[in-house]
This record gives sequence, structure tokens and C-alpha cells, in this order.
Amino acid sequence: MKRILLKLSGEALAGDKKTGFDEATVMKVAKQVKILVDEGIQVGIVIGGGNFWRGRSSENINREKADQIGMLATLMNCIYVSEIFQSAGMMTQVLTPFECGGFSKLYSHERVGKYFAHNFVIFFAGGTGHPYFSTDTATVLRAVEIEADVILLAKAVDGVYDDDPKSNPNAKKYDEVSIQEVIDKKLAVVDMTASIMCMENKMPMLVFGLNQENSIVNTVKGDFTGTKVTV
Ligand code: UDP
Repeated sequence: MKRILLKLSGEALAGDKKTGFDEATVMKVAKQVKILVDEGIQVGIVIGGGNFWRGRSSENINREKADQIGMLATLMNCIYVSEIFQSAGMMTQVLTPFECGGFSKLYSHERVGKYFAHNFVIFFAGGTGHPYFSTDTATVLRAVEIEADVILLAKAVDGVYDDDPKSNPNAKKYDEVSIQEVIDKKLAVVDMTASIMCMENKMPMLVFGLNQENSIVNTVKGDFTGTKVTV
């Protein structure tokens, strides 16, 4: 793997608190990503916003505005994680699909090439920049655009199951599953829009548990215990 796109959910940043940030959790991620960057692997990151806000959170405000708040939540997350990464010794840049003053720089393919060439970790904040989408879709979109080798989906659960393992103790974990089966059986990996994009653009995903010790590094180095989503 030379270039990877790592997706972290907003909830993962919050740890047991479920909201806001858990610095210890983020620092563990930073230390793992530094090992990869030091080996010359280019790392792009997309972070969800669920630890602050989801567009579906309010029934009383316009969905477009609610989604704008959600997109800004992902930017807050990226600024925070980017700063922790810097304190762990990495160079970082936050890119957004919309102008945000000095908070970030506008996404462009050229910028991505430039920052990766200088060993920066790039944070793709603000989702797709459009309402009615998710950071799952932004993850696949950016992975395809930057020609990532693979998407690393770091989740609260340690892989893809045929049923919700929290409510069904007999749920079976897949070692490998095709994206077609994910779509047909509506397995909760990424949302449907993102799944279709993965299939059409042949972008594989590795799904694993963020809370398992050293799981990001192990996944990249082939010591993988999660689920491979094939295309
Ligand atoms: N969001 C959006 N467009 C995007 C990405 C995100 O409108 O391209 C908003 C949407 O409101 C979403 C929130 O940002 O609920 C947080 O993103 P995330 O993907 O974490 O949301 P989830 O899928 O959990 O709702």
C-alpha cells in the first residue's frame, strides 16, 4: 500500500464519552499513523461528524442548513485531529470543498499531489460540500479522486457481520465479502450511495475495529483480522 484513505467515525473520536473529543483515543491513532508516514505511506483522512451533529438531528430546521452544520462538525473534527497529529510530529493540511477562510485550504487534485509529495497527512474535511450526502460518500469520492490503493474503515465493531453483533450474539463475521453482497444484503458497511460508488470505481475497503490494539498499523502491514470488502 502506497496511498491510503483512512475513515474515522466522529463517535470514534469521542471514546466512551460519546460526544466531543477523547484526546487519548486520538493520540493512539496519531501514533499509529506516524509509523505509516515515517515509512513513506501517504495517508488521507476523512472524519465523520456524529460526535457533534447529524443533519437528521433536528426535525425543525431546514435539512440543507442542518447538513451545513454537520459538514462544519466534520471540519471541527479535522482541525482537532490535525493539531493532535502535529503534536505527534507529523505535518498536516486540512482541505475542504468550500472556502473557509484561514481554517483550511480549498480541495484540488494539484494540492493533494503537492502535500503528499511533501509527506503531509491530508485531512479531507467538510464532506462532499453538499447536503444529503455523508462522509461515507466523501470517503469513497476522495479515495477515487486521489487514486488511493484502498479505504481503511476504522469502526467501533471489528468487521462486517451478517447481523448486528450488538443485538444478535450469533451474528457471523465475514473475513471477506464482495461489495455486491454488501449492497444486496444491505450490510451496514458504508451507506448505499457510497457502496455503489465503491462498486462502480472498484475501490476495495478493509473494515476493522479502531479499539483493537495497533489495528491501523496491523491492517496496513497485512496482519489483518477484520473484513475485506472486495470489488
Ligand atoms: N454531511 C453532509 N454532506 C456531506 C457529508 C456530511 O451534509 O457530504 C453532513 C450530514 O448532515 C451528516 C453530518 O454532516 O449527518 C455528519 O456526517 P457523517 O457522515 O458523520 O453523518 P452520518 O452519516 O452519521 O449522518
